[in-house]
Amino acid sequence: ALFEYAPAPESRAVVDIAPSYGLFVDGEFREAGSGKSFKTLSPATEETLSEVAYADAADVDAAVRAARTAFASWSALPGAERAKYLFRIARILQERSRELAVLETLDNGKPIRETRDADLPLVAAHFFYYAGWADKLSYAGYGRDPRPLGVAAQVIPWNFPLLMLAWKIAPALATGNTVVLKPAETTPLSALFFADICRQAGLPRGVVNIVTGDGATGAELVAHPDVDKVAFTGSTGVGKEIARTVAGTRKKLTLELGGKGANIVFDDAPLDQAVEGIVNGIFFNQGQVCCAGSRLLVQESVQDELLDALKRRLTTLRVGDPLDKNTDIGAINSAEQLARITELAEAGEAEGAERWSPPCELPTDGYWFAPTLFTNVTQAHRVAREEIFGPVLSVLSFRTPDEAVAKANNTPYGLSAGIWTEKGSRILKMANRLRAGVVWANTFNKFDPASPFGGYKESGFGREGGRHGLEAYLNV
Ligand code: NAD
Repeated sequence: ALFEYAPAPESRAVVDIAPSYGLFVDGEFREAGSGKSFKTLSPATEETLSEVAYADAADVDAAVRAARTAFASWSALPGAERAKYLFRIARILQERSRELAVLETLDNGKPIRETRDADLPLVAAHFFYYAGWADKLSYAGYGRDPRPLGVAAQVIPWNFPLLMLAWKIAPALATGNTVVLKPAETTPLSALFFADICRQAGLPRGVVNIVTGDGATGAELVAHPDVDKVAFTGSTGVGKEIARTVAGTRKKLTLELGGKGANIVFDDAPLDQAVEGIVNGIFFNQGQVCCAGSRLLVQESVQDELLDALKRRLTTLRVGDPLDKNTDIGAINSAEQLARITELAEAGEAEGAERWSPPCELPTDGYWFAPTLFTNVTQAHRVAREEIFGPVLSVLSFRTPDEAVAKANNTPYGLSAGIWTEKGSRILKMANRLRAGVVWANTFNKFDPASPFGGYKESGFGREGGRHGLEAYLNV
Protein backbone atom coordinates (compact mmCIF):
# COMPACT_ATOMS: atom_id res chain seq x y z
CA ALA A 1 0.00 0.00 0.00
CA LEU A 2 1.13 3.49 -0.83
CA PHE A 3 1.23 4.97 2.66
CA GLU A 4 2.02 1.81 4.56
CA TYR A 5 4.68 2.35 7.18
CA ALA A 6 7.95 0.50 6.85
CA PRO A 7 8.69 -2.06 9.57
CA ALA A 8 10.70 -0.74 12.50
CA PRO A 9 14.41 -1.01 11.76
CA GLU A 10 16.13 -2.50 14.78
CA SER A 11 19.68 -1.52 14.04
CA ARG A 12 22.07 -0.26 11.45
CA ALA A 13 22.80 -3.84 10.40
CA VAL A 14 20.09 -3.53 7.75
CA VAL A 15 22.25 -1.13 5.72
CA ASP A 16 25.52 -1.99 4.07
CA ILE A 17 27.57 1.18 3.61
CA ALA A 18 30.65 0.77 1.41
CA PRO A 19 33.92 2.36 2.60
CA SER A 20 33.92 4.58 -0.51
CA TYR A 21 31.63 5.74 -3.31
CA GLY A 22 32.26 7.16 -6.77
CA LEU A 23 30.19 9.60 -8.80
CA PHE A 24 27.21 8.18 -10.70
CA VAL A 25 27.66 9.23 -14.32
CA ASP A 26 26.20 7.65 -17.45
CA GLY A 27 24.83 4.68 -15.54
CA GLU A 28 27.95 3.73 -13.64
CA PHE A 29 29.92 4.66 -10.55
CA ARG A 30 33.30 6.20 -11.35
CA GLU A 31 36.15 7.91 -9.56
CA ALA A 32 36.40 11.68 -9.67
CA GLY A 33 38.84 12.79 -12.38
CA SER A 34 40.99 14.52 -9.77
CA GLY A 35 40.91 11.47 -7.46
CA LYS A 36 39.71 13.77 -4.66
CA SER A 37 37.18 12.66 -2.08
CA PHE A 38 35.58 13.79 1.19
CA LYS A 39 34.23 12.08 4.30
CA THR A 40 30.62 11.88 5.32
CA LEU A 41 29.93 11.21 8.98
CA SER A 42 27.18 10.43 11.42
CA PRO A 43 26.27 13.68 13.20
CA ALA A 44 25.04 11.68 16.20
CA THR A 45 28.42 10.05 16.88
CA GLU A 46 30.94 11.81 14.58
CA GLU A 47 31.86 8.36 13.25
CA THR A 48 32.96 8.38 9.58
CA LEU A 49 30.41 6.52 7.47
CA SER A 50 32.13 6.60 4.10
CA GLU A 51 34.48 8.42 1.75
CA VAL A 52 32.73 10.02 -1.24
CA ALA A 53 34.19 11.23 -4.56
CA TYR A 54 34.49 14.99 -4.98
CA ALA A 55 33.28 16.24 -8.37
CA ASP A 56 35.03 19.20 -9.99
CA ALA A 57 34.29 21.04 -13.24
CA ALA A 58 35.44 18.18 -15.51
CA ASP A 59 33.29 15.64 -13.67
CA VAL A 60 30.28 17.95 -13.80
CA ASP A 61 30.86 18.38 -17.52
CA ALA A 62 30.94 14.61 -18.04
CA ALA A 63 27.66 14.26 -16.14
CA VAL A 64 25.95 17.01 -18.13
CA ARG A 65 27.16 15.42 -21.40
CA ALA A 66 25.76 12.05 -20.31
CA ALA A 67 22.44 13.69 -19.48
CA ARG A 68 22.41 15.50 -22.84
CA THR A 69 23.06 12.30 -24.77
CA ALA A 70 20.37 10.42 -22.83
CA PHE A 71 17.86 13.23 -23.36
CA ALA A 72 17.38 12.43 -27.04
CA SER A 73 15.99 8.95 -26.46
CA TRP A 74 14.42 9.53 -23.01
CA SER A 75 12.35 12.48 -24.19
CA ALA A 76 11.23 10.51 -27.25
CA LEU A 77 9.87 7.61 -25.17
CA PRO A 78 6.09 7.46 -24.91
CA GLY A 79 4.92 8.73 -21.51
CA ALA A 80 3.60 5.28 -20.63
CA GLU A 81 7.11 3.86 -21.05
CA ARG A 82 8.66 6.52 -18.80
CA ALA A 83 5.90 5.78 -16.29
CA LYS A 84 6.97 2.12 -16.12
CA TYR A 85 10.44 3.12 -14.97
CA LEU A 86 9.07 5.53 -12.38
CA PHE A 87 6.64 2.94 -11.01
CA ARG A 88 9.51 0.45 -10.82
CA ILE A 89 11.66 2.95 -8.92
CA ALA A 90 8.76 3.69 -6.55
CA ARG A 91 8.31 0.00 -5.79
CA ILE A 92 12.02 -0.56 -5.15
CA LEU A 93 12.03 2.46 -2.83
CA GLN A 94 9.23 0.78 -0.86
CA GLU A 95 10.99 -2.57 -0.83
CA ARG A 96 14.23 -0.97 0.36
CA SER A 97 12.59 1.58 2.67
CA ARG A 98 13.88 -0.01 5.86
CA GLU A 99 17.46 0.10 4.65
CA LEU A 100 17.07 3.64 3.32
CA ALA A 101 15.44 4.90 6.53
CA VAL A 102 18.40 3.65 8.58
CA LEU A 103 20.86 5.09 6.06
CA GLU A 104 19.18 8.49 6.10
CA THR A 105 19.06 8.53 9.90
CA LEU A 106 22.78 7.67 10.06
CA ASP A 107 23.89 10.31 7.56
CA ASN A 108 21.48 13.07 8.63
CA GLY A 109 20.98 12.52 12.38
CA LYS A 110 17.18 12.67 12.31
CA PRO A 111 15.13 10.16 14.34
CA ILE A 112 14.33 6.82 12.73
CA ARG A 113 10.67 7.39 13.61
CA GLU A 114 10.71 10.28 11.12
CA THR A 115 12.69 8.66 8.30
CA ARG A 116 10.58 5.51 8.65
CA ASP A 117 7.14 7.14 9.02
CA ALA A 118 7.53 10.38 7.09
CA ASP A 119 10.54 10.66 4.74
CA LEU A 120 10.46 7.22 3.12
CA PRO A 121 6.67 6.90 2.65
CA LEU A 122 6.63 10.40 1.13
CA VAL A 123 9.57 9.61 -1.15
CA ALA A 124 7.81 6.54 -2.59
CA ALA A 125 4.49 8.40 -2.79
CA HIS A 126 6.16 11.15 -4.81
CA PHE A 127 7.45 8.69 -7.42
CA PHE A 128 4.08 6.94 -7.62
CA TYR A 129 2.32 10.27 -8.03
CA TYR A 130 4.50 11.52 -10.90
CA ALA A 131 4.61 8.08 -12.52
CA GLY A 132 0.85 8.46 -12.80
CA TRP A 133 1.23 11.76 -14.64
CA ALA A 134 3.76 10.60 -17.25
CA ASP A 135 1.22 9.18 -19.70
CA LYS A 136 -1.50 11.77 -19.03
CA LEU A 137 0.31 14.98 -19.90
CA SER A 138 -1.18 15.25 -23.36
CA TYR A 139 -4.71 14.91 -21.99
CA ALA A 140 -4.14 17.49 -19.30
CA GLY A 141 -3.71 20.54 -21.47
CA TYR A 142 0.00 20.24 -22.15
CA GLY A 143 -0.47 19.54 -25.85
CA ARG A 144 -0.38 16.38 -27.93
CA ASP A 145 3.36 16.23 -27.64
CA PRO A 146 4.43 17.89 -24.35
CA ARG A 147 7.93 19.35 -24.53
CA PRO A 148 10.44 18.79 -21.74
CA LEU A 149 13.06 21.46 -21.13
CA GLY A 150 16.16 19.25 -21.57
CA VAL A 151 18.92 18.76 -19.01
CA ALA A 152 17.98 19.76 -15.45
CA ALA A 153 20.66 20.75 -12.92
CA GLN A 154 19.30 20.05 -9.44
CA VAL A 155 20.96 21.12 -6.19
CA ILE A 156 19.49 20.00 -2.87
CA PRO A 157 20.08 20.54 0.88
CA TRP A 158 20.73 18.13 3.74
CA ASN A 159 17.56 18.39 5.77
CA PHE A 160 15.46 15.91 3.75
CA PRO A 161 18.09 14.40 1.44
CA LEU A 162 16.05 11.66 -0.20
CA LEU A 163 12.75 13.54 -0.12
CA MET A 164 14.24 16.61 -1.79
CA LEU A 165 15.76 14.28 -4.39
CA ALA A 166 12.30 12.80 -5.00
CA TRP A 167 10.74 16.27 -5.33
CA LYS A 168 13.35 17.10 -7.96
CA ILE A 169 13.85 13.90 -9.93
CA ALA A 170 10.31 12.45 -10.14
CA PRO A 171 8.63 15.37 -11.99
CA ALA A 172 11.71 15.93 -14.18
CA LEU A 173 11.73 12.33 -15.40
CA ALA A 174 7.95 12.08 -15.77
CA THR A 175 8.02 15.02 -18.19
CA GLY A 176 10.94 13.62 -20.22
CA ASN A 177 13.89 15.62 -18.90
CA THR A 178 17.21 14.12 -17.83
CA VAL A 179 19.00 15.24 -14.67
CA VAL A 180 22.28 15.90 -12.94
CA LEU A 181 21.67 16.13 -9.20
CA LYS A 182 24.06 17.35 -6.52
CA PRO A 183 23.23 16.30 -2.96
CA ALA A 184 24.47 18.30 0.03
CA GLU A 185 28.03 17.60 1.19
CA THR A 186 26.95 16.38 4.65
CA THR A 187 24.31 13.92 3.35
CA PRO A 188 25.43 12.39 0.04
CA LEU A 189 24.71 8.72 0.80
CA SER A 190 20.99 8.33 0.10
CA ALA A 191 21.41 9.92 -3.36
CA LEU A 192 24.13 7.35 -4.13
CA PHE A 193 21.87 4.52 -2.94
CA PHE A 194 19.20 6.02 -5.18
CA ALA A 195 21.64 5.77 -8.09
CA ASP A 196 21.88 2.06 -7.35
CA ILE A 197 18.07 1.87 -7.40
CA CYS A 198 18.06 3.49 -10.86
CA ARG A 199 20.35 0.69 -12.04
CA GLN A 200 18.18 -1.90 -10.34
CA ALA A 201 15.15 -0.45 -12.14
CA GLY A 202 16.98 -0.66 -15.47
CA LEU A 203 16.70 3.09 -16.03
CA PRO A 204 18.55 3.95 -19.26
CA ARG A 205 22.07 5.23 -18.62
CA GLY A 206 22.54 8.99 -18.34
CA VAL A 207 18.92 9.77 -17.44
CA VAL A 208 19.91 10.29 -13.80
CA ASN A 209 23.45 11.38 -12.85
CA ILE A 210 24.62 12.12 -9.30
CA VAL A 211 27.62 14.35 -8.66
CA THR A 212 28.76 14.63 -5.05
CA GLY A 213 30.72 17.61 -3.78
CA ASP A 214 30.31 20.95 -2.04
CA GLY A 215 29.08 24.44 -2.94
CA ALA A 216 31.78 24.80 -5.60
CA THR A 217 30.51 21.63 -7.32
CA GLY A 218 26.97 23.05 -7.17
CA ALA A 219 28.17 26.34 -8.65
CA GLU A 220 29.90 24.51 -11.55
CA LEU A 221 26.73 22.58 -12.28
CA VAL A 222 24.47 25.64 -12.21
CA ALA A 223 26.85 27.57 -14.48
CA HIS A 224 27.32 24.78 -17.01
CA PRO A 225 26.37 26.19 -20.44
CA ASP A 226 24.53 23.04 -21.59
CA VAL A 227 22.02 23.04 -18.73
CA ASP A 228 18.44 24.05 -19.61
CA LYS A 229 16.87 24.21 -16.20
CA VAL A 230 18.13 24.85 -12.66
CA ALA A 231 16.15 23.70 -9.62
CA PHE A 232 17.57 24.66 -6.25
CA THR A 233 16.51 24.07 -2.66
CA GLY A 234 18.63 25.62 0.04
CA SER A 235 19.45 28.86 1.75
CA THR A 236 18.18 32.21 0.52
CA GLY A 237 21.73 33.54 0.21
CA VAL A 238 22.85 30.80 -2.15
CA GLY A 239 19.52 31.04 -4.01
CA LYS A 240 20.19 34.69 -4.79
CA GLU A 241 23.69 33.85 -5.98
CA ILE A 242 22.27 31.20 -8.30
CA ALA A 243 19.67 33.65 -9.64
CA ARG A 244 22.53 36.00 -10.58
CA THR A 245 24.44 33.18 -12.31
CA VAL A 246 21.40 32.13 -14.31
CA ALA A 247 20.31 35.68 -15.23
CA GLY A 248 20.84 36.38 -18.91
CA THR A 249 21.07 32.71 -19.91
CA ARG A 250 18.43 30.49 -21.52
CA LYS A 251 18.05 28.54 -18.30
CA LYS A 252 14.73 28.24 -16.50
CA LEU A 253 14.92 28.55 -12.72
CA THR A 254 12.94 27.49 -9.66
CA LEU A 255 14.06 28.28 -6.12
CA GLU A 256 12.86 26.81 -2.81
CA LEU A 257 14.51 28.83 -0.07
CA GLY A 258 14.25 29.64 3.62
CA GLY A 259 11.32 30.48 5.85
CA LYS A 260 10.18 31.90 9.18
CA GLY A 261 6.72 30.37 9.48
CA ALA A 262 4.11 31.67 11.94
CA ASN A 263 1.95 29.22 13.87
CA ILE A 264 -1.07 31.27 14.96
CA VAL A 265 -3.16 30.07 17.90
CA PHE A 266 -6.53 31.71 18.63
CA ASP A 267 -8.22 31.53 22.02
CA ASP A 268 -10.99 29.24 20.76
CA ALA A 269 -8.53 26.56 19.54
CA PRO A 270 -8.43 23.18 21.28
CA LEU A 271 -5.21 23.89 23.15
CA ASP A 272 -4.05 20.28 23.60
CA GLN A 273 -4.25 19.77 19.86
CA ALA A 274 -2.50 23.09 19.23
CA VAL A 275 0.34 22.06 21.57
CA GLU A 276 0.92 18.92 19.50
CA GLY A 277 0.88 21.01 16.32
CA ILE A 278 3.33 23.53 17.75
CA VAL A 279 5.70 20.73 18.81
CA ASN A 280 5.45 19.07 15.41
CA GLY A 281 5.84 22.46 13.73
CA ILE A 282 9.18 23.33 15.30
CA PHE A 283 10.73 20.13 16.65
CA PHE A 284 10.13 17.83 13.66
CA ASN A 285 13.59 17.18 12.18
CA GLN A 286 15.13 19.28 14.99
CA GLY A 287 13.53 22.36 13.42
CA GLN A 288 15.75 21.99 10.35
CA VAL A 289 12.74 22.43 8.12
CA CYS A 290 12.28 25.33 5.70
CA CYS A 291 8.55 25.50 6.47
CA ALA A 292 8.97 25.07 10.26
CA GLY A 293 6.54 26.93 12.51
CA SER A 294 9.42 28.78 14.13
CA ARG A 295 7.33 31.72 15.38
CA LEU A 296 4.43 30.98 17.70
CA LEU A 297 1.80 33.74 17.63
CA VAL A 298 -0.60 33.17 20.49
CA GLN A 299 -3.70 35.18 21.38
CA GLU A 300 -3.00 37.07 24.60
CA SER A 301 -5.99 35.70 26.53
CA VAL A 302 -4.67 32.12 26.33
CA GLN A 303 -0.95 32.79 26.31
CA ASP A 304 -0.21 31.70 29.90
CA GLU A 305 -2.34 28.59 29.69
CA LEU A 306 -0.84 27.56 26.36
CA LEU A 307 2.76 28.16 27.43
CA ASP A 308 2.27 26.12 30.60
CA ALA A 309 0.89 23.22 28.58
CA LEU A 310 3.64 23.57 25.98
CA LYS A 311 6.40 23.50 28.61
CA ARG A 312 4.88 20.41 30.21
CA ARG A 313 4.84 18.73 26.80
CA LEU A 314 8.46 19.69 26.05
CA THR A 315 9.66 17.99 29.21
CA THR A 316 8.39 14.69 27.77
CA LEU A 317 10.43 14.92 24.53
CA ARG A 318 13.17 12.31 24.30
CA VAL A 319 16.46 13.58 22.91
CA GLY A 320 19.13 11.06 21.91
CA ASP A 321 20.13 8.14 19.70
CA PRO A 322 18.38 8.72 16.36
CA LEU A 323 18.25 4.96 15.71
CA ASP A 324 16.17 4.42 18.86
CA LYS A 325 12.51 4.12 17.90
CA ASN A 326 11.49 6.13 20.98
CA THR A 327 13.62 9.16 20.14
CA ASP A 328 11.78 12.41 19.34
CA ILE A 329 14.76 14.72 18.83
CA GLY A 330 17.90 13.56 17.08
CA ALA A 331 21.22 15.21 16.26
CA ILE A 332 21.82 18.51 14.48
CA ASN A 333 23.15 17.79 10.99
CA SER A 334 26.61 19.34 11.24
CA ALA A 335 29.01 21.25 13.47
CA GLU A 336 28.45 24.33 11.24
CA GLN A 337 24.68 24.16 11.66
CA LEU A 338 25.05 23.69 15.41
CA ALA A 339 27.28 26.76 15.54
CA ARG A 340 24.66 28.82 13.63
CA ILE A 341 21.88 27.74 15.97
CA THR A 342 24.02 28.41 19.04
CA GLU A 343 24.98 31.87 17.80
CA LEU A 344 21.35 32.90 17.16
CA ALA A 345 20.14 31.50 20.49
CA GLU A 346 22.87 33.49 22.27
CA ALA A 347 21.81 36.59 20.36
CA GLY A 348 18.26 36.00 21.61
CA GLU A 349 19.45 36.07 25.21
CA ALA A 350 21.72 39.06 24.62
CA GLU A 351 18.81 41.02 23.13
CA GLY A 352 16.72 40.37 26.24
CA ALA A 353 14.40 37.51 25.27
CA GLU A 354 13.83 34.86 27.93
CA ARG A 355 15.33 31.45 27.16
CA TRP A 356 13.91 28.17 28.46
CA SER A 357 14.69 24.50 27.83
CA PRO A 358 13.36 21.39 29.56
CA PRO A 359 15.91 19.53 31.66
CA CYS A 360 17.60 17.09 29.28
CA GLU A 361 20.95 15.38 29.11
CA LEU A 362 22.64 15.72 25.74
CA PRO A 363 25.05 13.05 24.44
CA THR A 364 28.71 14.05 24.63
CA ASP A 365 29.78 13.02 21.11
CA GLY A 366 28.01 14.43 18.06
CA TYR A 367 26.05 17.65 17.52
CA TRP A 368 23.14 18.31 19.85
CA PHE A 369 20.88 21.18 20.81
CA ALA A 370 18.16 21.03 23.46
CA PRO A 371 14.58 22.03 22.54
CA THR A 372 14.45 25.75 23.28
CA LEU A 373 11.69 28.29 23.85
CA PHE A 374 12.08 32.07 23.75
CA THR A 375 9.45 34.25 25.43
CA ASN A 376 9.41 38.04 25.92
CA VAL A 377 10.29 38.24 22.24
CA THR A 378 9.71 41.39 20.19
CA GLN A 379 9.49 41.55 16.42
CA ALA A 380 12.83 43.36 16.35
CA HIS A 381 14.72 40.46 17.95
CA ARG A 382 16.92 38.37 15.68
CA VAL A 383 15.22 35.20 16.95
CA ALA A 384 11.94 36.59 15.59
CA ARG A 385 13.36 37.69 12.23
CA GLU A 386 16.08 35.28 11.14
CA GLU A 387 15.70 31.68 10.14
CA ILE A 388 17.37 29.64 12.89
CA PHE A 389 16.87 26.23 11.26
CA GLY A 390 17.06 24.51 14.62
CA PRO A 391 14.86 23.39 17.55
CA VAL A 392 14.19 26.94 18.73
CA LEU A 393 10.72 28.48 19.04
CA SER A 394 10.13 32.22 19.44
CA VAL A 395 6.85 33.18 21.11
CA LEU A 396 4.99 36.40 20.26
CA SER A 397 1.44 37.37 21.18
CA PHE A 398 -1.46 39.19 19.50
CA ARG A 399 -4.92 40.50 20.41
CA THR A 400 -6.86 40.70 17.13
CA PRO A 401 -6.84 38.78 13.83
CA ASP A 402 -5.53 41.93 12.11
CA GLU A 403 -2.59 42.05 14.47
CA ALA A 404 -1.93 38.34 13.91
CA VAL A 405 -1.86 38.82 10.12
CA ALA A 406 0.40 41.88 10.38
CA LYS A 407 2.89 40.06 12.61
CA ALA A 408 2.81 36.83 10.63
CA ASN A 409 3.50 38.73 7.40
CA ASN A 410 6.22 40.86 8.96
CA THR A 411 9.08 38.82 7.49
CA PRO A 412 10.99 38.77 4.21
CA TYR A 413 10.04 35.09 3.93
CA GLY A 414 6.71 33.58 2.91
CA LEU A 415 6.79 29.81 2.89
CA SER A 416 4.38 28.53 5.53
CA ALA A 417 1.87 29.41 8.23
CA GLY A 418 -0.49 27.60 10.58
CA ILE A 419 -3.86 28.64 12.02
CA TRP A 420 -5.48 27.07 15.07
CA THR A 421 -9.13 27.97 15.59
CA GLU A 422 -12.56 26.34 15.69
CA LYS A 423 -13.97 28.93 13.28
CA GLY A 424 -13.96 27.81 9.66
CA SER A 425 -14.75 31.30 8.38
CA ARG A 426 -11.75 32.68 10.23
CA ILE A 427 -9.48 30.04 8.68
CA LEU A 428 -10.56 31.05 5.17
CA LYS A 429 -10.21 34.78 5.83
CA MET A 430 -6.83 34.42 7.48
CA ALA A 431 -5.48 32.03 4.84
CA ASN A 432 -6.22 34.55 2.11
CA ARG A 433 -4.39 37.33 3.95
CA LEU A 434 -1.28 35.38 4.93
CA ARG A 435 1.56 35.83 2.46
CA ALA A 436 2.73 32.21 2.58
CA GLY A 437 2.85 29.46 -0.02
CA VAL A 438 1.26 26.92 2.31
CA VAL A 439 -1.21 27.58 5.11
CA TRP A 440 -2.18 24.69 7.38
CA ALA A 441 -5.32 24.82 9.50
CA ASN A 442 -5.46 22.87 12.77
CA THR A 443 -2.46 20.84 11.67
CA PHE A 444 1.14 21.50 10.64
CA ASN A 445 3.88 20.00 8.45
CA LYS A 446 1.47 17.86 6.45
CA PHE A 447 2.66 16.99 2.96
CA ASP A 448 1.08 15.34 -0.02
CA PRO A 449 2.61 14.84 -3.46
CA ALA A 450 -0.58 16.17 -5.07
CA SER A 451 -0.24 19.51 -3.30
CA PRO A 452 2.02 22.25 -4.72
CA PHE A 453 4.67 23.60 -2.35
CA GLY A 454 6.74 26.77 -2.62
CA GLY A 455 7.27 30.29 -1.41
CA TYR A 456 6.22 33.91 -1.59
CA LYS A 457 8.76 36.73 -1.35
CA GLU A 458 12.32 35.67 -0.44
CA SER A 459 11.26 32.07 0.12
CA GLY A 460 11.65 31.60 -3.63
CA PHE A 461 9.51 31.03 -6.70
CA GLY A 462 8.05 28.16 -8.63
CA ARG A 463 6.16 25.24 -7.12
CA GLU A 464 7.11 21.62 -6.51
CA GLY A 465 4.50 18.91 -6.17
CA GLY A 466 1.11 18.56 -7.75
CA ARG A 467 0.25 19.53 -11.28
CA HIS A 468 2.10 22.83 -10.82
CA GLY A 469 5.30 20.89 -10.25
CA LEU A 470 5.08 19.51 -13.80
CA GLU A 471 5.07 22.96 -15.33
CA ALA A 472 8.50 23.69 -13.90
CA TYR A 473 9.85 21.01 -16.27
CA LEU A 474 7.80 21.64 -19.42
CA ASN A 475 7.66 24.19 -22.18
CA VAL A 476 3.92 24.70 -21.89
P1 NAD B 1 22.89 25.81 1.34
O1 NAD B 1 22.24 26.83 0.49
O2 NAD B 1 24.15 26.15 2.00
O3 NAD B 1 23.17 24.48 0.52
C1 NAD B 1 22.20 23.85 -0.26
C2 NAD B 1 22.88 23.14 -1.41
O4 NAD B 1 23.49 24.11 -2.26
C3 NAD B 1 24.01 22.19 -1.00
O5 NAD B 1 23.98 21.07 -1.85
C4 NAD B 1 25.26 23.03 -1.26
O6 NAD B 1 26.40 22.26 -1.53
C5 NAD B 1 24.86 23.80 -2.48
N1 NAD B 1 25.56 25.07 -2.68
C6 NAD B 1 26.18 25.85 -1.76
N2 NAD B 1 26.69 26.94 -2.34
C7 NAD B 1 26.37 26.87 -3.66
C8 NAD B 1 26.59 27.73 -4.79
N3 NAD B 1 27.24 28.88 -4.67
N4 NAD B 1 26.11 27.34 -6.00
C9 NAD B 1 25.43 26.18 -6.13
N5 NAD B 1 25.20 25.35 -5.11
C10 NAD B 1 25.64 25.68 -3.88
O7 NAD B 1 21.76 25.42 2.36
P2 NAD B 1 21.84 24.34 3.50
O8 NAD B 1 22.47 24.94 4.69
O9 NAD B 1 22.37 23.09 2.99
O10 NAD B 1 20.26 24.13 3.75
C11 NAD B 1 19.54 24.88 4.64
C12 NAD B 1 18.68 25.91 3.93
O11 NAD B 1 17.85 25.32 2.94
C13 NAD B 1 17.75 26.62 4.87
O12 NAD B 1 17.84 28.01 4.69
C14 NAD B 1 16.36 26.13 4.46
O13 NAD B 1 15.32 27.00 4.72
C15 NAD B 1 16.52 25.84 3.03
N6 NAD B 1 15.56 24.82 2.60
C16 NAD B 1 14.48 25.21 1.86
C17 NAD B 1 13.55 24.28 1.45
C18 NAD B 1 12.36 24.68 0.62
O14 NAD B 1 11.72 23.80 0.06
N7 NAD B 1 12.04 25.94 0.50
C19 NAD B 1 13.72 22.95 1.78
C20 NAD B 1 14.81 22.58 2.54
C21 NAD B 1 15.73 23.54 2.93
